[in-house]
Amino acid sequence: MILHHFMQPLAGYHTRAAFSLFPVSISMTTHTASRRLKQKRLWLALAALFALLFFSLKEKPTSQHNQVAPFGTETGDSLPTHNSQKPLSDAEKGILALARAYPDFFEIADQVPTQNVLVWKDGTRLPYDDGREKSPQERLENPDLEDQMQYYPSGRLETPPQKGEQAGRIRYEPFFKKMYGNSAAQVAQKLTTVVWLPKHIGTKLQVTTVNQVHQKVKTLSLQLDSLVSLRPDLKKYLQNPGGTFNWRNISGTNRLSAHSFGMTLDINTTYSHYWQWSAKTKDENATLSYQNQIPMEIVELFEAQGFIWGGKWYHFDTMHFEYRPELLLFAQMR
Ligand SMILES: [Zn+2]
Repeated sequence: MILHHFMQPLAGYHTRAAFSLFPVSISMTTHTASRRLKQKRLWLALAALFALLFFSLKEKPTSQHNQVAPFGTETGDSLPTHNSQKPLSDAEKGILALARAYPDFFEIADQVPTQNVLVWKDGTRLPYDDGREKSPQERLENPDLEDQMQYYPSGRLETPPQKGEQAGRIRYEPFFKKMYGNSAAQVAQKLTTVVWLPKHIGTKLQVTTVNQVHQKVKTLSLQLDSLVSLRPDLKKYLQNPGGTFNWRNISGTNRLSAHSFGMTLDINTTYSHYWQWSAKTKDENATLSYQNQIPMEIVELFEAQGFIWGGKWYHFDTMHFEYRPELLLFAQMR
């Protein structure tokens, strides 16, 4: 309908323009009615083509800046003052993914592409890349934001994760402490209760309200409830969830667990695998053999709400889901 509406004036314009460009075709015209009709049809067809071309060039995707776009859709934002001719560097992509993933904390307009710094709405500036070369162990123990931004393979897992695949396992603690709280007490102040699969399970979970994580868990919970109605065999993975908020270090390390921040959820440990339990070691350098029973239908629903899954790490933790929308966005920008 819209196309039809625009074609009328446009057709006239292009017909006239075309005639003036090719006066020869007018002078050559014989005055028989059928010849004129044929020519008119030709020009109309040409005009329609022009109109289609005009429209396809004019139509651009609209920005979804204020909506929570489902993960897997590119919103097309780019960093301010960036020369659009030049592709974004990895650091620029990382900063952009962080700013887009957490709109309560960042304005894309505040990010300056070349300065290697993530600027918060309150004016805080966190360095992005400390420029240091690190061993894998150092990256875990002393990362910067750049180390944190790794490629997370969203969607179905085709092959077991390879050594070094661990997107989301590296966390720059100052970032999460600033966002979710600096201590157990501060994080606890922002928690709320969400009923987990109200129809089929009904366990109460404590999750953070920061970044509306509680709303995302609520949506997920209803979606999983519907999934279990169709697939009762999936209920066992979701009942007796292993836990959400718990301010603690990761076993065998001095690093804070993501459970400290209230945006992380473990499903049923009985049907899950954790590398330290499977390999009976806490040695990061141990050779591991991947194990998983968690069905991908469950993983995909979590990812659609911005959660990553620990089952995609070489150091697998298949019960573990963590709200890390920046990694899902970053993966799309590659
Ligand atoms: Zn966990």
